[in-house]
Amino acid sequence: MPVVSDLSHRRVDLVPSAPGTVEVVSPGSLAMELGIEAGDQVVGVNGYPLMDALDFQYQAQSTSVTVDVDRRGSLLRYELELEGDESWGITFADPTFDGVRICENACPFCFIKQIPKGMRRSLYVMDDDFRYSMLYGSFVTLTNLSDEDWTRIEEQHISPLHVSVHATNPDLRVALVGNPKAGRILDDLQRLEDAGIDFHAQLVLVPGVNDGAEMDRSLEDLSRFRHLRSIAGVPVGLSKHGQERQSKQIRLSRTCMRLLPGTQQERIDVRRYESDEALQVIQQAHEWQGRFQRERGETFYHLGDEFYLMTGSEVPGADHYDGFPQIEDGIGITRHFLDGVSSYVQRARVGTLAGVQGSVACGMLVGDTMRQAIDGFNLATGAELTVTPVENQFLGPEINVSGLLSGQDLVDGLRDSDDDGPIFVTRKMISDRTGTLLDDQIIEDVAGQLGRPIIPCDTMSDVARYLRTHRPVLARVA
Ligand code: SF4
Repeated sequence: MPVVSDLSHRRVDLVPSAPGTVEVVSPGSLAMELGIEAGDQVVGVNGYPLMDALDFQYQAQSTSVTVDVDRRGSLLRYELELEGDESWGITFADPTFDGVRICENACPFCFIKQIPKGMRRSLYVMDDDFRYSMLYGSFVTLTNLSDEDWTRIEEQHISPLHVSVHATNPDLRVALVGNPKAGRILDDLQRLEDAGIDFHAQLVLVPGVNDGAEMDRSLEDLSRFRHLRSIAGVPVGLSKHGQERQSKQIRLSRTCMRLLPGTQQERIDVRRYESDEALQVIQQAHEWQGRFQRERGETFYHLGDEFYLMTGSEVPGADHYDGFPQIEDGIGITRHFLDGVSSYVQRARVGTLAGVQGSVACGMLVGDTMRQAIDGFNLATGAELTVTPVENQFLGPEINVSGLLSGQDLVDGLRDSDDDGPIFVTRKMISDRTGTLLDDQIIEDVAGQLGRPIIPCDTMSDVARYLRTHRPVLARVA
């Protein structure tokens, strides 16, 4: 029996050598009760091969189920009657058994094309895979979906999806995505809507290209979808390698991208926002947010934190973010962090961390905000934390967010520091999949070069917990 269905027509990468391998069986789960073990390979359900973990979940929910498992070369068959809504408790080593589907686009701002050569292979995977969109919130363009994929999304109700829209003007989207199929975005979204599939949308905003009147057009078009859950507008990022590519005009090689619609421009000029342009985007978004509040009772359109930070504007309050629907993409993460610090400070016992030393390393963009937050933390707890904003040499200083700092950036930024104690960094710097930083270094090696422990954290409560636990060795003044 083939382990996966025939998908040879699709462009894929990172195809697992043993698809369907069980990595973890949850204690007390149905799979554990049956005796399924980590290392087993699930090769079929009800006699059919599987494409991915979602397919397993769907196929194995029928009332009469046959599961075929390969255990070290022996085929085991489990036949059982179920209620139809059981949790199997299986985590697969690779969620997609046929590999990761890669994109057929050529976006002029593609970040993957901006990463320097020589990094780990998985960093260069240009994934555009609706399964990962549902499972992990990655954004997809919908341009590589076959009829079979659409049918599957509809039948298996694969929801929610996260869609990179960028612009609803068909010609402009074709130019921005570098794919003639990109122009049917409104039809694609309508198909999701008709199937009852929830989705989140993203607009990567390029100054002078898809903001202004084009942003109004996109928001107007998107506002009609009832299954659209949120929209994010994020500023385009451009690394120093991306700038070099721009200057060599390597991008825009596809015929469909040659002319920017409505202009005689032969290329999309990708550049960073200037402060006054970013302020205009904030103002324009503010008007839409007011309309969405009146019509839908929620802000609905959220801007990336960079817009507020680069203009020195205060990031909006938590109630603006409608429960932070796109925080995994960094939307509202500054507000979330600041509120976490305030709430910790309010409940902390005064002086509880007196004399404890350490540093917080962050990107340049959030440096001032971080200093204010840490000052408040120090004042309340007596800790003596310092803040070190670190410049991104790896991707270039234009990339100034914390999560994209490399190991070498940390070494260079902190090597000459007189500070003592642990260095706290955001956990977002480290890949979930490989446990490495952007330049493939592991955190322990970077810590070794600096002679100080580096502690990845999500919140200030994590920082405080570490400091409390290690207080006896960290406190300069007991
Ligand atoms: S969809 Fe665009 S941004 Fe995403 S990987 Fe493909 S070319 Fe890059």
